[in-house]
Amino acid sequence: MSTEEPKSYQPPKQCLQDRVILITGAGSGIGRTAALSCAAQGATVILLGRTVEKLEAVYDEIEQAGSPTPAIYPLCLEGASEQDYQTLATTVEQEFGPLHGLLHNAGLLGQRTTIANYQAQIWQQVMQVNLNAQFLLTKSLLPVMKTADDAAILFTSSGVGRQGRPFWGAYAVSKFATEGLAQVLAGELDEVSNIRVNCLNPGATRTPMRAVAYPAEDPGTLFSPEQIMPAYLYLLGPDSKGISGQSFDAQ
Ligand code: NAP
Repeated sequence: MSTEEPKSYQPPKQCLQDRVILITGAGSGIGRTAALSCAAQGATVILLGRTVEKLEAVYDEIEQAGSPTPAIYPLCLEGASEQDYQTLATTVEQEFGPLHGLLHNAGLLGQRTTIANYQAQIWQQVMQVNLNAQFLLTKSLLPVMKTADDAAILFTSSGVGRQGRPFWGAYAVSKFATEGLAQVLAGELDEVSNIRVNCLNPGATRTPMRAVAYPAEDPGTLFSPEQIMPAYLYLLGPDSKGISGQSFDAQ
C-alpha cells in the first residue's frame, strides 16, 4: 500500500486482533466510532474520557457486538496531573501488558472568535486538553508501548492545524502544535523503537463538535464517523508498519 492511501484502506477481517488500543474522548463523536471499529476488528480497547455514562454506553455496545471486552478509564484531561498519568500507565501495564495503539482523539473547540476577543482562560483550557494532555499522556505511556513488538501513536489534526484561519483561535494553534509534537516524537522514536507516530485530519465529520462549529450546516452533507474509519484502522494497525512522521487526511 502506498503512503497516500490510508483513507482507501480495506481492512482485512480482525486486522487489530490481540492488540490493546487506548482511545481518548471515546464517549462520543469520532472517538466513540473509533472505539467500536477497533473493537470490531479484534482490539481490546481502553475507553478514556471524562463522562462516565458515555463511556459506559460505548462499553455496552462493544459487549453486545461480541467484541473483546473493553475497559473504561475515566479521566478529565483538563485537570489531570502528571501523577494521574503515571497511575494510568501503571494500571495499563499491570492489567494489559504491552500497549499497541494510542489514539489522541479528545479535543475541545473553544471559542470561535478573534484573537483580540479570545478569553485567556478558555485559551489555556483548550491548550491543556488539545496539546498538553497529549504530551503528558504520551510521555507516561511510552514505556508500556516500547514493550510491544509493534505499536502506533496517532494524533488528531485538523485543516486549521495546517493553514491558520481567522476565528479558530486556540483550537487552530493547538492543532499546529499537535502536528509539531507528532513530528518531533516520530523523529525521536525512529529506528530506536517499534513505535510509529502519525497525524490524521478527520476532515468535516458529522459529530457534536462539528455541529457547534457550524450550526447552520446540514449534517446530512457531511461524512459520518464510520466513513472515515479506514484511515484510523490503517494507521493504528500492523499494515502501516514503517510509516511514521507523516500527516494524512481521512477523507
Ligand atoms: P466531539 O464529538 O466533541 O468529541 C470530543 C471528545 O473529546 C468527547 O468524547 C469529549 O468528552 C472529549 N473531551 C473533551 N474534553 C475532554 C476532557 N477535558 N477530558 C477528557 N475528554 C474530553 O468531537 P469530534 O468531532 O468527535 O472530535 C474528535 C477529534 O477530531 C478532535 O480532536 C477534533 O478536534 C478532531 N476534528 C474533528 C473534526 C470534525 O469535523 N468533527 C474535524 C477536524 C478535526 P465528552 O463527550 O465527555 O465531553
